Amino acid sequence: MGIRKFFRLPKGMSSLGDCGAFNYIDEEYPPYTVDEVLDFYEGCRFDSGVSIDHVIFGFEPGLDEHQVDPAWAKRRRISLDLAEQFIGEVRNRGSLLEPVGAAQGWSPKSYADSVSRLQELGYQRIALGGMVPLKTPEILACLQEIDLVRSEGTELHLLGITRVDSMGKFKDYGVTSFDSTSAFRQAFMDDRNNYHTRDFSFTALRVPQVDANPALKRRILSGGVAQAEAVAAERNCLKCLRSFDRGEAGLEEAVEVLAVYEALVNGPKKKSYIDFYRRTLEAAPWKSCPCALCKEHGIDIAIFRGSERNKRRGFHNLTVLESKMREIENS
Ligand SMILES: [Zn+2]
Repeated sequence: MGIRKFFRLPKGMSSLGDCGAFNYIDEEYPPYTVDEVLDFYEGCRFDSGVSIDHVIFGFEPGLDEHQVDPAWAKRRRISLDLAEQFIGEVRNRGSLLEPVGAAQGWSPKSYADSVSRLQELGYQRIALGGMVPLKTPEILACLQEIDLVRSEGTELHLLGITRVDSMGKFKDYGVTSFDSTSAFRQAFMDDRNNYHTRDFSFTALRVPQVDANPALKRRILSGGVAQAEAVAAERNCLKCLRSFDRGEAGLEEAVEVLAVYEALVNGPKKKSYIDFYRRTLEAAPWKSCPCALCKEHGIDIAIFRGSERNKRRGFHNLTVLESKMREIENS
C-alpha cells in the first residue's frame, strides 16, 4: 500500500527511508545489496532514501586516515563505495526517489571529506551518520569543518539527533532535517520521563493489565496474589483515575489506589513510583495540552498500559517536540 497510505501521511509531508545501520553495526559488511535497498525504498514509495552506510562507533578528532583504527577507515570507504553504487542505480532505474548520501567519519576532517566526495558523486542532500554518541560541541565542530566544503544548496540531515536547544545553530550550517525516535519511545521505554510538556516531563501512571503483566502473572500462579483481587485492584485504579480526572475523586484517593495496585504487582521490595505519580496527578498536564489526543483521551493518555495507548502518548510527545521546533523556527 506504500508508506504514504500506511501512515496516513498528510499532503505536503514527505518520507525518508534508511537502512537502520545500528542493527548491523557488529557485522563486517552491511548485509544488504544496493538493489535490495532500492527495491525496498521504491516498493514502499518513499520520497527520499539514504544510501547504505556502515557506522563508525568512535570519535578521534586528531587522527587522520593512516593513524586511525583501520576498521574505521574501511567503514568510511565502504559507505562511500555504496553511496556511489546507490546514486548510480537510482539514475540507472530512472527512479523518482531523491537519493540521500550517507556520510560517515570519526573526526571533523573525515566527515568533511566524506561530504565533499558525496557532492562530487552528485548528491545534493547528505545524511550525517554515527553522531548519536557525540556531544553537541563535537557535532558543531564537524558541521563547521563540513561548512568549508559544502556547496551552496547542499542540504544536511542529522541521523538520530534531536537536540532541540541546538537546532538553531545546526540550521546555520545547512542542516534542514533530522530524525529521532526518542520523544516517541520515551513514552513507553523510559523509566520516568514518559509524558512530555514544553518545560517538564512526567511519569506515566502504571496500571498494567492483569493478564498481560509477566511479574503479576507469576505472583498469581505462585499463589502470592489472588487473581480476583488483582483484577479488582486494576479496575479500581482505572475507575478512580477517571473519577479523579472528572473532579469526583481526590488526589490522595487516586494515589492510594495506585499504591495498592503497585504493591500487588511488584510485591513489597521493588522501588515505588508513587511520589512521581503524585506529581503527575497534581499537574494533570493533559488538561492544558492542546493536542487532539489529550483532548480526546484525558487522563487515559497518561496511563501506562497496552501498546496502542502507550504509543498514543508517544504521538502526544511528538506534538510537544514539534511545537518546540516551531518556537525556534520563529524566534
Ligand atoms: Zn497532548
